[in-house]
Amino acid sequence: MPKIGITALVPPELIFACGGQPYDVNNVIPESKKYPKNKLCAWTAIWQEMLVKREIKIDSLIVVAGGDCHNALVDGQKAAMSGIPTHFFFYPFDGDHKYMESQLHSLCSFLGDIKHPEKFRQIKELKKAGQLIDKKRVNGKISAGEAFRILVSISDLMGDLDKFKRALDIKTPHLNAGIGVNRIALIGVPPIYHDFHDVAQSLDLQIVFDELPYEFVRHTGADLNEVAKDYCNYTFARPLDFRIGFLQKELEKRKVDGVIHYTQFACHHTLEDEILRQELDYPILTIQGDLPGKTPEQIKLRLEAFREMIARS
Ligand code: SF4
Repeated sequence: MPKIGITALVPPELIFACGGQPYDVNNVIPESKKYPKNKLCAWTAIWQEMLVKREIKIDSLIVVAGGDCHNALVDGQKAAMSGIPTHFFFYPFDGDHKYMESQLHSLCSFLGDIKHPEKFRQIKELKKAGQLIDKKRVNGKISAGEAFRILVSISDLMGDLDKFKRALDIKTPHLNAGIGVNRIALIGVPPIYHDFHDVAQSLDLQIVFDELPYEFVRHTGADLNEVAKDYCNYTFARPLDFRIGFLQKELEKRKVDGVIHYTQFACHHTLEDEILRQELDYPILTIQGDLPGKTPEQIKLRLEAFREMIARS
């Protein structure tokens, strides 16, 4: 099974259906101890270096060149120039599903065409189960950390549908789940710190929404056409007002008390902070990360201060 690296959300339905094994190159980064030599955003710089040095071994690469990340366009080209067969994938900014469909067809040609159409439905079912995990953590039945680890892995479904299905079977109820009274939405790109959700929970900030991982779980389709119609509404690739409209509904539904906007050093999404603050009517804490590792003490202090601020408001 050829291993297909992806730099951001690329419908895993299509990769599995074409006989490939998706591998999200971002997923190794929070646990890595890599400090890249030449970087803007650490996420793209680290996977770029690891790909060029063949520390991540893949057969080919799909770079999301039009959509949610501008740094990936350049770092993806550097990886391509090292000899990895690479395809550049573009989302429609205006949500045109016909354009999305044409992108999916061109991706199919790169991957060698659909050989296992049954994978679409299998993944649709798995994503339904993934949505239940999200619901359970909203209701405090499992911890935010456990839910996050599952939801974020939906970008590539762990490269193995059976393995992913087994991972969905969370049996251990989290003792602290549901106790934290401060219901928090985590918006922006996911934190580069591998323990962030557990740290927040230990400070009584219960994360009940993860913006980007929720995009991974909510988009799907039973065939290429359905995938095109659904994924063209991937909020991170659409205009900001579209994304904010979606966020407003989701935050209200989940009855959040506050919002943490995670930004990454040298990421263009940081520029959105001002608008998100204007448009979302909640207490908002903006934090910025850079290199992977544990959540720094300084950020823990800011989380504590935020909890106090919510308690007073
Ligand atoms: S944090 Fe920003 S710049 Fe870095 S990979 Fe994510 S979207 Fe791209």
